[in-house]
Amino acid sequence: MDHIALPLKYRPMTFEDVVGQDHVVKTLRNAIESGRVANAYLFIGPRGIGKTTLSRIFAKALNCTSPNGVEPCGKCNSCIETAAGRSIDVIELDAASHNGVDDVRPIVEECQFRPAGSKYKIYIIDECHMLSAQAWNALLKTLE
Ligand SMILES: [Zn+2]
Repeated sequence: MDHIALPLKYRPMTFEDVVGQDHVVKTLRNAIESGRVANAYLFIGPRGIGKTTLSRIFAKALNCTSPNGVEPCGKCNSCIETAAGRSIDVIELDAASHNGVDDVRPIVEECQFRPAGSKYKIYIIDECHMLSAQAWNALLKTLE
């Protein structure tokens, strides 16, 4: 019997590639199309359904300088930097290991400033349910 190694998780790069999250994708695409983007989006669901992946696609789409409709082009500077985790305007925080009020303080302070070179300044907070109550409160204040 032949064995074919499949990647454990296929990572979609565009909304079009995302499988099985139609309602979420629709909501995000509509937000971009209409230009009505909320201050925060909460992605909820079991492990592995693509919450972080979707949030990254959304971040790329929001800051893409030559989007194809609502899809990120994947080729502009912003898309490349975001995909590589190097964009100064898309900051990821892993709340599983950084859940204290001191961990979110830089976000609270930084987010008062405009994005450096992009349309939006975006914070992706992974495992945000792990944040302490104090950290949550600090973050919520910045969203108000
Ligand atoms: Zn792009």
